[in-house]
Amino acid sequence: MASLENLSAVHATLLVGILLECFVALGWLLAAGLLLPMRRASLHWAGFAFLQGAAFFVYLNSGNWAGFPAHAAANMLLVAALVLQVRGLQRAMGRPPTDSLFIALLFCAGVVQVVWLTHEQSAWRMAAISALASGISAWTGATMLRCIRHEDARAPRLLALLLSAPSVIGSALFAMRALLVLQAPERIIRDDRLDQSIGMLGALLWLFLSLGMALALVGVVLYRLQRKLSQAATQDALTGLPNRRAADDFLAHEALRAQRQGTPLSALMIDIDFFKKVNDQHGHAAGDHVLQTLARLLQERARATDLVARWGGEEFLVLLPDTSPAGAREVAEQLRLAVQNTPFCWQQSTVPVTVSAGAATWTSGPFHANALIASADSALYQAKNSGRNRVCVAADNALHLALPGGRSVEPRRA
Ligand code: GH3
Ligand code: MG
Ligand code: MG
Repeated sequence: MASLENLSAVHATLLVGILLECFVALGWLLAAGLLLPMRRASLHWAGFAFLQGAAFFVYLNSGNWAGFPAHAAANMLLVAALVLQVRGLQRAMGRPPTDSLFIALLFCAGVVQVVWLTHEQSAWRMAAISALASGISAWTGATMLRCIRHEDARAPRLLALLLSAPSVIGSALFAMRALLVLQAPERIIRDDRLDQSIGMLGALLWLFLSLGMALALVGVVLYRLQRKLSQAATQDALTGLPNRRAADDFLAHEALRAQRQGTPLSALMIDIDFFKKVNDQHGHAAGDHVLQTLARLLQERARATDLVARWGGEEFLVLLPDTSPAGAREVAEQLRLAVQNTPFCWQQSTVPVTVSAGAATWTSGPFHANALIASADSALYQAKNSGRNRVCVAADNALHLALPGGRSVEPRRA
């Protein structure tokens, strides 16, 4: 390598590339240490950046290492880097990596280097490696799309396209390079600049693409973290059901729709009878199992437009858009019977489980979410007081009574 003062533009670009890739690799190592669920993927992407930096380094020194097949080595490093990138994405999705395919790709790349090793054959070598890199980059783009969908089937399409764009553009550029080198090799391979056959434009594009790909990977990780955070904030950890906060959001949204369309909105408050006894007699783990089984049962029986949420301890809230008081009673009764008739098995024994339910419906007038919940809660209280394992429906005027300043119906809990 020339002294630092006399570096050519291509060499300077490669040097910057090495430094940047080192920082990116260190960043991924840091991520591997901090983000335990993403550790394996992060380590792969640290390897991706490190191998890219190593490829830059080999290109940078190709003029100094007489007799060493520097281009062949740099090509192998590039292919290995791309393979690590896509393998990391597979790890991030929790899928088993397609190792036999990766080994086959690396083997092909190795064969290409050995068969077309001399400078006279470099057009074939470059075309073959570029075609291979094009294929792997296209595969990376497709895996990136799948990774985002895997995280959330309703992820914004634009986000998925943006994150896969660097790989797709890389694939197109590698394909163009393969075609160009076959059609007009003299435009890419220059005898007078053997050590610089990459060219200034090539070096810049390579640097931008590899950093663009690294940025896309950061995007994947950030999107995942954001999804996990929002899930943790809105999902109950034990049952996987939406939690109280999610139910509040759903209720606010559905209330607006009900008011706009003039359709009724019902709420069922469901509570397990004598649940404390389950814990006392069978243990807390059995209680947890009952909660999970009941959550699944309620969820399976709900319509796609309903929401089943864990409201607290052993209480579940079912929100039924566009459902009249009679409909709400019918749904509650079906759920109550389903629970009664479902065997809740724990270890060798069957745990008897029944539920009580209170139903309330908003049909007209100003909507107050608290009033609807308080009415369903009062009806549940009534069901408990009149013997349990039954459904009670709030009176027509209960909603108004439960309004702030109303007369008598109070929520059971604060
Ligand atoms: P009732 O028929 O009046 O509703 O009686 P109950 O025993 O079901 O009601 P109570 O409020 O006396 O007891 C509720 C119990 O639910 C007490 C609490 O330990 C248990 N519980 C709350 N959350 C969980 C949980 O996540 N897992 C388990 N295993 N138990 C829970
Ligand atoms: Mg209970
Ligand atoms: Mg309770």
